[in-house]
Amino acid sequence: MSNSEHPALYDLTLEQLTTLLASWGLPTYRARQIWEWLYKHFAGGFDEMTTLPGSLRERLAAETTLAIGDVVLSQKSSDGQTKKILFRLPDGQLIETVLMRYEKRRTLCISTQAGCAMGCVFCATGQMGFKRNLTVAEIVGQVMYFARELAAEGQHVTNIVLMGMGEPLHNYDNTLAAIDRLTDPSGMNLGARKITISTVGLIPAIRRYADEQRQTPLAVSLHAATDEERSRLLPVNRRWPLADLMEACRYYVEKTGRRMTFEWALIAGENDTEEQAHKLGQLLRGMLGHVNLIPLNPTAGYGGRPSSPEQVGRFQEVLTSYGITSTVRVRRGIDIQAGCGQLRDRHLVESGDFKGTKPAPK
Ligand code: SAH
Ligand code: SF4
Repeated sequence: MSNSEHPALYDLTLEQLTTLLASWGLPTYRARQIWEWLYKHFAGGFDEMTTLPGSLRERLAAETTLAIGDVVLSQKSSDGQTKKILFRLPDGQLIETVLMRYEKRRTLCISTQAGCAMGCVFCATGQMGFKRNLTVAEIVGQVMYFARELAAEGQHVTNIVLMGMGEPLHNYDNTLAAIDRLTDPSGMNLGARKITISTVGLIPAIRRYADEQRQTPLAVSLHAATDEERSRLLPVNRRWPLADLMEACRYYVEKTGRRMTFEWALIAGENDTEEQAHKLGQLLRGMLGHVNLIPLNPTAGYGGRPSSPEQVGRFQEVLTSYGITSTVRVRRGIDIQAGCGQLRDRHLVESGDFKGTKPAPK
């Protein structure tokens, strides 16, 4: 449930909404009407729900909440294709959501936690530490915000990546409940395959997810192909080392028949060497997998630099020699700090609250 005393509407299943309305002495069809205002028309306020009697709209406004928080910053990239929103939640936590327009795609990058407990050294969210899990309403509400904005332009959300702030599988139940909501055929009805969950590699959760046989694809943030290097970048690797992680990934591929995507943030002189590329090639050989290469987004708390395009090309060539497909992800919206956690940093810098430090590069 939400942090405020009133139920957050986006937290409720249709059944729970029906129960709430029944407790107000109202028939089932009213719940269905509200549901459609929420998930088919993306209403931004109760006054928009014009098929409801005024008294019901008033009661909803008085006793439930719709908006997940206040928008404290909204920024567009210089080419206008990327837009980033910073929400302040009722308890003051700041979370980010990004809309990326690319050809016909309208992809949202959404957050699942305020902060993150995993501490990946290059990640702005990791650098701030864990604050709390987001509620179902707070995850769903980010999508509804942009769905509403796009609808006003006659467009719609086509894809969602769970690559904003937080580790989705560390907030397993709320994340999966939010995906169920977004894919519900009686509501928004987004295709389950259009959503991607990205995980740092929480092994028991990957296995649990594989067992659930869901349609929503999983991506694993690998970033290094040896335990030594990976533990340096991703502290979580000390708990869940590479060999076990790869076994869990193979289990996922076997169970679901889906290919596994691996994320690799290329950091100059760190994990972008041909040696690392060969190690990665050996690690993934013969597996149904694909590698997404992302030149590092520099962050306030980490001194590493993105790899040069030439080095990215060499890295990719080595992977190709192992028969491994890869894509270089273009960093969109770089001028608005569209990397996860980065807009929050900037907001805090500008308001004088930023406590981050920048260690000297190794
Ligand atoms: N916690 C999940 C999902 C959120 S992070 C995960 O780690 O997978 C989404 C992706 O952005 C991850 O692959 C993460 O490693 C990557 N990432 C984080 N900070 C980055 C940065 N500064 N530059 C490039 N990629 C970054
Ligand atoms: Fe958390 Fe992902 Fe950032 Fe690592 S990269 S700190 S898991 S959000």
